[in-house]
Amino acid sequence: MKKANGHEIIQLFESWSPKKLACMENDPIGLAIGTLNKEITKVLVTLDVNDEVTNEAIEQGCELIIAHHPPIFRKLSNLRTDTPAGKLYEKLIKNDIAVYAAHTNLDVAEGGVNDLLADALQLENRKILEKTYHENLMKLAVFVPDDYAEIVRLALAKAGAGSIGNYDSCSFSTNGQGRFRALEGADPFNGDIGEMEKTDEEKIEVVFTHSIKNKVLKAMLNAHPYEEPAYDLYTLAVETNEMGLGRVGTLKEPMTLERFAEHVKAQLLVPRVRVVGDPNSLISKVAVIGGDGNKYIHVAKRSGADVFVTGDIGFHIAQDAQTMGLNIVDPGHHVEKVMIKGVAEKMKTLCLDAKLSVEFIQSEVNTEPFIFI
Ligand SMILES: [Zn+2]
Repeated sequence: MKKANGHEIIQLFESWSPKKLACMENDPIGLAIGTLNKEITKVLVTLDVNDEVTNEAIEQGCELIIAHHPPIFRKLSNLRTDTPAGKLYEKLIKNDIAVYAAHTNLDVAEGGVNDLLADALQLENRKILEKTYHENLMKLAVFVPDDYAEIVRLALAKAGAGSIGNYDSCSFSTNGQGRFRALEGADPFNGDIGEMEKTDEEKIEVVFTHSIKNKVLKAMLNAHPYEEPAYDLYTLAVETNEMGLGRVGTLKEPMTLERFAEHVKAQLLVPRVRVVGDPNSLISKVAVIGGDGNKYIHVAKRSGADVFVTGDIGFHIAQDAQTMGLNIVDPGHHVEKVMIKGVAEKMKTLCLDAKLSVEFIQSEVNTEPFIFI
């Protein structure tokens, strides 16, 4: 095990929950306060950053906080230390505690907030509720002299090209003849300067995601024997790696809305939930979105869900849901606290695999602003 620096830890985090998954415009994700250019032995994982959480980080000796809710959500117009927010930033900086925020990217990520909520509610046959991210497949067709076809094919496969579902090393080849004339100054692999050359070549076609384009091209160019390899590269209309917000799935056994509300309370550890709908109606399909799901009642209804579990439901949205016959269970925004254990455990595994010695501490501070009387 070796000591970790902040960049190494965040690189591992972003290999799981990359910034490109963020689905809110100008979502202030990433490093918010401090620096990652330092050794880190302890990381505190929290839903929110407030004064109490900062004290916890200081007491526990944490050099980094990973939070779901960005501590600087709106642009600052000053950095006064005589305001509550300013005092908080001052305390973090004076104690050399960095804060990294993973917000909507962590909602979307596989195993992120929404999966953790769906896990807690024990949803089966799970699907994404609202797709917010996909990648387009790209295709590379490269013309290689026959003797080098195998070498180039292997290099492409090693770079990740030709991975389709549960298959890898997928490619398609056609044989033909390549023609070229090397001009003065060239150093041709085949043929002579100024002479037309005809070579038996293989056209190798492979697909891959846009995210590994540079790696694949580099691998092909390194393995190809020609000075000027000929290739076509284009984006396909085929979409892959679909990811998104919310999850929809089924319960092992159907239950009444009233019993389901009790199930939500017990599983998400909340003392009260607000419910819209007939308590006796039967629930088998459940849609869930962590945080504020007001914008998604129509998506939830279209998914065929019998109930939508989400926080911060407003009065008129509740009325709309009632009118369209969508049951709602609102356990509050704070149920996103499931991310504390989820992120800490995931990061512990990632760091162990990378042989980095870092401790992930789950915040025990209750940042729920509401009390239930
Ligand atoms: Zn939230």
